[in-house]
Amino acid sequence: MNEILAGVDLGGTKILTVVANEKGSIMGSCRRDTEVERGEERIVENICLSLEAALEDAEVGKDELSAMGVGSPGPLDTRRGIIHETPNLPFVDFPLVDKLEEKLGLPVHLENDANAAALGEKNFGAGRDGGDQIYITVSTGIGGGIIIDDEIFHGADDGAGEIGHMIVKQGGPTCGLGQHRGCLEAMASGTAVAREARRMTLNGRTPELEKLLAENEIDPEDQEIPGHIIAEAARRGDQAVRMIYREMGYYLGIGVASLITLFNPDMIIFGGGVMKARDLFWKEMTNSAADHALPSAREICDLVEAELGDRTGVYGAIAAAKTARA
Ligand SMILES: [Zn+2]
Repeated sequence: MNEILAGVDLGGTKILTVVANEKGSIMGSCRRDTEVERGEERIVENICLSLEAALEDAEVGKDELSAMGVGSPGPLDTRRGIIHETPNLPFVDFPLVDKLEEKLGLPVHLENDANAAALGEKNFGAGRDGGDQIYITVSTGIGGGIIIDDEIFHGADDGAGEIGHMIVKQGGPTCGLGQHRGCLEAMASGTAVAREARRMTLNGRTPELEKLLAENEIDPEDQEIPGHIIAEAARRGDQAVRMIYREMGYYLGIGVASLITLFNPDMIIFGGGVMKARDLFWKEMTNSAADHALPSAREICDLVEAELGDRTGVYGAIAAAKTARA
């Protein structure tokens, strides 16, 4: 029997809830404000309301649902269904799964958003035909999820898969954690690219980027330079900016090489906003990965682009719902 599942992509501003069959065909959806300022109980209420609306949109009764999956920013405890604490949501050690199961009478499974994205690609996206695989999101930060034998590898207390904080340059710049130096996130995230672009622009070394900044009335002295502007400058031939992307690709490749050597995966899947600038770093990244990984493991591992784009979170939540039901 084809079961019907609910997936919830829980973010700091929006909740996206869908109703889908287990093959990932979306039957109905609802997007609603998270309303973080109104507190944790209101967020639970909003999830329930968004589910009701998504069920109505799908013309499905609540009693036909088998399970719900929720993808949320972490850190969290997947076994106990608790969100510990996260910058964009007001939760502190909040038992989200218990609350939802009580209100809905359904099995609910909670997964952190990077792991949910990995499950989404594995079940419904680029990883469908693959076995062991690693998903990397290259965005403002860098995160990831590791899938071994069709399941997320969580580690001892849900801390596994923090790919962004693997050290790739000893003594390098710091990441968003503050005192953590030279990790992948500090060297190859969108934030790292913006930091270097700003530094070089203030030193007067990026003529094309400077023109674009003037056209768009952006002052790099007091605001971060948007990623698409930086990428545009590189495509217009700004050599210093092109070099920033090549360096970023080089360090990303070092991290990828360590993952290949450590896990011997069938594939590594790359998602996240910075992939829009893929043309500017992909070759450098794959060359660097090949140079640094053990050759036997490198040969078998495909490096591919994610397929689900903006929908990765919600597809991941549907995949997580399958885990709840299991
Ligand atoms: Zn770090």
